[in-house]
Amino acid sequence: MDSTTATAELGWTVYPTSGSSENSWEEVSGYDEGMNTIRTYQVCNVFESNQNNWVRTKYIRRRGAQRIHVEMKFSVRDCGSIPNVPGSCKETFNLYYYESDADTATKTSPPWMENPWIKVDTLAADESFSQVDLGGRVMKINTEIRSFGPVSRNGFYLAFQDYGGCMSLIAVRVYYRKCPAVVRNGAAFQETLAGAESTSLVLARGVCIPNGEEVDVPIKLYCNGDGEWMVPIGRCMCKAGHEPMDNGTVCKACQSGSFKPSQGDDSCIQCPINSRTTSEGAINCVCRNGYYRADSDPLQMPCTTIPSAPQGVISSVNETSLMLEWRPVDQRRGAWASPATRPHQRPAAAPPCSAEVQAVNGVSDQSPYSPQYASVNITTNQAAPSAVSIMHQVSRTVDSITLSWSQPDQPNGVILDYELQYYDKEQSEYNATVLRSQTNTAVIRGLKSGAIYVFQVRARTVAGFGRYSGKMYFQTMTEAEYNSSIQEKLPLIVGSAAAGLVFLIAVVVIVIVCNRRGFERADSEYTDKLQHYTSGHMTPGMKIYIDPFTYEDPNEAVREFAKEIDISCVKIEQVIGAGEFGEVCSGNLKLPGKREMFVAIKTLKSGYTEKQRRDFLSEASIMGQFDHPNVIHLEGVVTKSSPVMIITEFMENGSLDSFLRQNDGQFTVIQLVGMLRGIASGMKYLADMNYVHRDLAARNILVNSNLVCKVSDFGLSRFLEDDTSDPTYTSALGGKIPIRWTAPEAIQYRKFTSASDVWSYGIVMWEVMSYGERPYWDMTNQDVINAIEQDYRLPPPMDCPSALHQLMLDCWQKDRNNRPKFSQIVNNLDKMIRNPNSLKAMTPLSSGVHLPLLDRSVPDFSSFSTVDEWLDAIKMGQYKDNFANANFTSFDVVSQMTMEDILRVGVTLAGHQKKILNSVQMMRAQMNQIQSVEV
Ligand code: AMP
Repeated sequence: MDSTTATAELGWTVYPTSGSSENSWEEVSGYDEGMNTIRTYQVCNVFESNQNNWVRTKYIRRRGAQRIHVEMKFSVRDCGSIPNVPGSCKETFNLYYYESDADTATKTSPPWMENPWIKVDTLAADESFSQVDLGGRVMKINTEIRSFGPVSRNGFYLAFQDYGGCMSLIAVRVYYRKCPAVVRNGAAFQETLAGAESTSLVLARGVCIPNGEEVDVPIKLYCNGDGEWMVPIGRCMCKAGHEPMDNGTVCKACQSGSFKPSQGDDSCIQCPINSRTTSEGAINCVCRNGYYRADSDPLQMPCTTIPSAPQGVISSVNETSLMLEWRPVDQRRGAWASPATRPHQRPAAAPPCSAEVQAVNGVSDQSPYSPQYASVNITTNQAAPSAVSIMHQVSRTVDSITLSWSQPDQPNGVILDYELQYYDKEQSEYNATVLRSQTNTAVIRGLKSGAIYVFQVRARTVAGFGRYSGKMYFQTMTEAEYNSSIQEKLPLIVGSAAAGLVFLIAVVVIVIVCNRRGFERADSEYTDKLQHYTSGHMTPGMKIYIDPFTYEDPNEAVREFAKEIDISCVKIEQVIGAGEFGEVCSGNLKLPGKREMFVAIKTLKSGYTEKQRRDFLSEASIMGQFDHPNVIHLEGVVTKSSPVMIITEFMENGSLDSFLRQNDGQFTVIQLVGMLRGIASGMKYLADMNYVHRDLAARNILVNSNLVCKVSDFGLSRFLEDDTSDPTYTSALGGKIPIRWTAPEAIQYRKFTSASDVWSYGIVMWEVMSYGERPYWDMTNQDVINAIEQDYRLPPPMDCPSALHQLMLDCWQKDRNNRPKFSQIVNNLDKMIRNPNSLKAMTPLSSGVHLPLLDRSVPDFSSFSTVDEWLDAIKMGQYKDNFANANFTSFDVVSQMTMEDILRVGVTLAGHQKKILNSVQMMRAQMNQIQSVEV
């Protein structure tokens, strides 16, 4: 309430009203300093005694205030300046208030006295004026403020009591104090009225402004008696994606193209290079298509793409080492070349020896594309192959000699073929006949009977021919020998090829008496086998395996393929296992001029028969022909002292099946695939050598301390009918067979081939992925045979990536021609290792124990003319566009699809991936059948 703003009479109530108006307060118009009209109340009854003059304001509404402030402007006449003034003259007045819920006051009520009125104070002038200047009024104006509280009724009245003074009440202003609505510390506080006492602090709770979040709670401010906020507590901050603006009073969403990753007072930041936002208020920026961020990259880091193929790859060969050099790839973030638009395709026909170099960065594994390769052909400025050091006679007749020889110690490249030159010892070297052989054996026909021939052989690589071996002498049978059933045998002559020029020729003639039938049998057997070896469908120059039992004397095979070790070099330490023929021990081998090494020693128990000795040592003459990092390595044999021993490299972790069982669940999928890759690589080598293992199983794989797996167990004896000790090997027609590991055609009609080894390899995969579980659990052998016959196959082991199970199923194709080759298995596993994403898809747990391999509901693809029709038929029609966009539009390309391809065309549901993969596999099988029919 402000009396100075009144535009009409104030009309306050005056007491007493009886008598003339001069007796009490009187409303008078006047002027303020600015010459504005104001309404005042005046009283001046100084010459009359017992004055009690009241003036009461109109009803004033409280409006929630608890404490009321009253500002009064007034002037008071100095009693001393009034001539003849009585002593009752006063220079003060009283201020009162009276609370009421409604405007109910009358002229008589409330009574004009203290109590019911409540006195606030007696006011005195600081300055009083003592005279009236005749030239104008001299007004000394006082301003006083008083306050009172608490007030609680709806409103109140004020009253001014004069008791004998001469004064003028010029202005009255009534107000309360409040703290205004504010935003402080990120929180909004509502308007808050000051408390009842001037020292009161009124608590106000704040709420975070929109898009703000509490950081410290509680959030409060106090409103003091003067209407000022004080003692702020707690705070809010703008949440992620919003930044403070206008002095922290609003949280504004980050504009598009900028982001704020977390709560706080920071501003939004521009998106890093190669990233963008999808809306305002972004908390991160997503990478543009083809760009990625590694998991460990902070959000402020630019997105990166996969590196281009390395540039300028150069190879240089120095003897046996190959050096590859390429230009450094620009490592600046975001500076990679644009990503590949198509996955890298290996050239269909790779040169015989090439290297691929790929750059990989922290985001390569996120890209759906394989890293790009730079390929370089490796031209070895190689030496020609070294000389063949040993040649031996496998068999002979009156007019032919069958020879085999070892590969040169240093082939220095891929051997293309061998050249054999021979001549009758009685004739000139210039009449020599030259023969080419693609393998390390040859049958030389059309010879004179009973003649000694001189043979030399040399290997050829891209670098040309190596040196000829030393001259070696072999003799055909004479008619007399043939007729009298006496075979004279000229065994091999060992010539050192080191110098290649001078040879010491020692001819030892051993006469062996055989009956004619025996000879005939031997001859036809060998010829059979040798024709098979030389039938020409093998890789040229490839070394092939020679069955030690094709030797007339298997001891000779041992002598040829296994190095004799002197027992003094061997130190047996402890027994580590039991073998077929005796204990298996660990120990040390110290060969002259070589470092001592840890070895495994298989012994032949005493009291053996000659046949047992031969069978025992046959393993050494097989193993001794192999040289591959994933095939157990033979160090040598001890045959000249007792006990007879086979000494091999030591494999610290023993056999794979027990090793996996002991470490159940401990390896990553990549580690397991790495082991499988090693086994497949060893098997590829053996298959390339024409060796059929027949007993590939996890129990026959050994593991060293680096987790390298090596194929072992080349013994043949356990297949023999008379051995009944081991239940794994079940008697079958013509030998014993490990049913669970063996392909159906091998069980049924003993068709053991590398393709049946592939079947067993699939079982090994299953054993590895299930950490040594027994294949087909406790099913009986007959149940296993029946289930396989009805196209049931082992389901994926727990956590087995579907790509791996698919490969197992491929290995278990009924038709052995449809199974992958070991080389394809190695390539397939390499692909998975290079692209671990392909191992992420898991096969959902199958409902039962058995999983039908060939889904007979899948129709034959050849009944459709387009891929679209085929997709419809397998109920995958929704992927027609995906297939078309990725150019999988012909059955030829679709049949080659891998799990990776299916993922890449955008089939994301695991069930659909499997369905399509199964159907593709069916298509492949059907195609193969068609092709073999056509052939
Ligand atoms: P085998 O007669 O080849 O089946 O060998 C019998 C057991 O001896 C195997 O199961 C292995 O535990 C162990 N063993 C055989 N060869 C080696 C080796 N080279 N290194 C370590 N342990 C071996």
